[in-house]
Amino acid sequence: GSYESVALVVGVTGIVGSSLAQVLKLPGTPGGPWKVYGVARRPCPGWLAKFGVEYIRCDVSNTEEAKTKLSPLDDVTHIFYVSWIGSEDCETNAVMFKNILDNIIPVAKNLKHISLQTGSKHYFGVFEEGSGVEPHDSPFTEDLPRLNVPNFYHDLEDILYEETSKHGLTWCVQRPALIFGFSPCSLMNVVSTLSIYATICKHEKKPLVYPGSKASWNCYVDGADADLAAEHHIWAAVDPKAKNQVFNCKNGDVFKWKHVWKLLADEFELEMVGYIEGNEQVSMAELMKDKDAVWDEIVKTHKLEATKLKEIAAFWFADIAFSCVDLVMSMTKSREYGFLGFRDSMKSFNSCIHKMRSYKFIP
Ligand code: NDP
Repeated sequence: GSYESVALVVGVTGIVGSSLAQVLKLPGTPGGPWKVYGVARRPCPGWLAKFGVEYIRCDVSNTEEAKTKLSPLDDVTHIFYVSWIGSEDCETNAVMFKNILDNIIPVAKNLKHISLQTGSKHYFGVFEEGSGVEPHDSPFTEDLPRLNVPNFYHDLEDILYEETSKHGLTWCVQRPALIFGFSPCSLMNVVSTLSIYATICKHEKKPLVYPGSKASWNCYVDGADADLAAEHHIWAAVDPKAKNQVFNCKNGDVFKWKHVWKLLADEFELEMVGYIEGNEQVSMAELMKDKDAVWDEIVKTHKLEATKLKEIAAFWFADIAFSCVDLVMSMTKSREYGFLGFRDSMKSFNSCIHKMRSYKFIP
């Protein structure tokens, strides 16, 4: 056809997957015009259907299904792997990635590049408690060695290195910071999680109380705008200077949760209660555990897109974010290699709220 490049976005309904789908289809995106295949398990959501992606419904953890659905895609030139199973299980996550590569590499004769998204957990360890591992000292740079703890990121990297060297393909490992995006289908979307917390506070006529730790209220945090992460994936895929490298990915500035709290209070017109001296962290997952019916009611009242609270909000993830300190990454390597993209974190957070509103995911 008239396409310059053909992308396979694995995890296209997710937080970076949906941004990749949008950014790849923009006129002027490097490497374009792009044909975009997008893979996920659920039926194609209405909002995503408008992006012009060729949607493939497939459970890639199922080896048979992956073979049937993926082996016809013989025109793929670039794979963007932005998925995970939703648990840190090394074996399942590895099988998913293997199933993609095993079915695409043999048929896609023009395949050039594989981009793998992992994340900053590479530097501070896994979510699972009790691993006992000491995180690296921040700011994190790409050359820091692996921590001595099972992490599916290591398994995915090993598969990537082995398959690309065997088949003469180029690769990128991208390690984003906390991602700001608009997808309502993500397992970890901090913007939707906090927007929904604020929406429920408003519905219940309560102030917006910060439940996190003192340290998290005051410390610097890194964000990565999902569109920026998409641009970074695409840059590393098409710029010859960026080939075969690991890159951190973040907005470039730092932010504080206290500033996000003010922004949320303004956006949702709530009274703000920041961190109160002496308070211990309260679990947002615990606070929100009986709110499913409240969310259903809000969806109905405001005629929103049908979503379930458990899908659109990850309160467990906010609990982790509000207990972390000092997890700042360096962007110097990306800049040295020529990626100069950046975002203002507060504007990025705010524009994701607005995007979610315009898609009717939140009131
Ligand atoms: P999301 O949770 O936003 O999206 C996951 C995507 O994968 C969805 O499209 C989902 O769609 C799809 N998917 C999940 N399981 C399957 C399956 N068996 N078959 C086919 N599709 C599947 O992903 P993220 O972008 O958050 O995560 C990707 C990587 O980025 C992970 O390693 C994560 O740890 C890392 N990361 C994430 C951060 C964040 O803030 N979210 C921060 C830093 C790193 P469906 O449910 O429809 O199948």
